[in-house]
Amino acid sequence: MRIARFTTGEDPVYGLVDGAGEKIAEITGDPLYTKIELTGATHLVADVRLLAPVIPRSKVIGIGKNYADHAKEMGGEAPSSPLMFLIPNTAVVGPGDPVVIPGFTQEVSYEGELAVIIGRVAKDVPVDQALSVVFGYTVANDVTARDLQRGDGQWARAKGLDTFCPLGPWIETSLDPAACRIRTTLDGDVVQDGSTSDMVHGVAELIAHASQAFTLLPGDVILTGTPAGVGQVVAGQRVDIEIDQIGTLSNPFVDAE
Ligand code: MG
Repeated sequence: MRIARFTTGEDPVYGLVDGAGEKIAEITGDPLYTKIELTGATHLVADVRLLAPVIPRSKVIGIGKNYADHAKEMGGEAPSSPLMFLIPNTAVVGPGDPVVIPGFTQEVSYEGELAVIIGRVAKDVPVDQALSVVFGYTVANDVTARDLQRGDGQWARAKGLDTFCPLGPWIETSLDPAACRIRTTLDGDVVQDGSTSDMVHGVAELIAHASQAFTLLPGDVILTGTPAGVGQVVAGQRVDIEIDQIGTLSNPFVDAE
């Protein structure tokens, strides 16, 4: 099942997207908290504005260097246990929304990633039960100001700037995250082409590890790390990230005014 959050000009609503990604059947409430019931209204995807499919209630948890080939291109090895960081929910934007590059960074990179949406409260969840707390999956761009990441000594600004966490286009609830292809294009040129099968720590392990540190709440998001091929994106360019069985997240990059 694909769940989108969208607007037709009024307040945001949720809906079920068909397999072709062309039609949305509106539902009554937030499916994270209420049973899914159709309102009867339908729309063409082309006629609505898709929004970030979830606004994280408490946190986005990022995972650093979770693909060995990306850790290598950053000049190191993948850490033996998952390296976690936090992104404020004010960084989240939706499909098609511009990523705004502030004047105090000169080196911004895209990072195509599988995002996990948590469906229920979870603390100290064992690895073998971890996937049962997942609501679904979407696509993320873990946009990073590389110069701030190096200069600040920690990653709060580098990864937490406003608009630096695009999510979308919708949530797929019936995905097996073990081996999904992730492809990133920069203005149409393929720059990342990896598979979630190459994660150092898999989705279940990441959830278990994160839940030892933090109570996970419905609507929390875990970004699972990026494959090799990260690189600079500048204003005027567009980044598209496609994950098999989910869809494509596309965002233009602009300079702050
Ligand atoms: Mg990342």
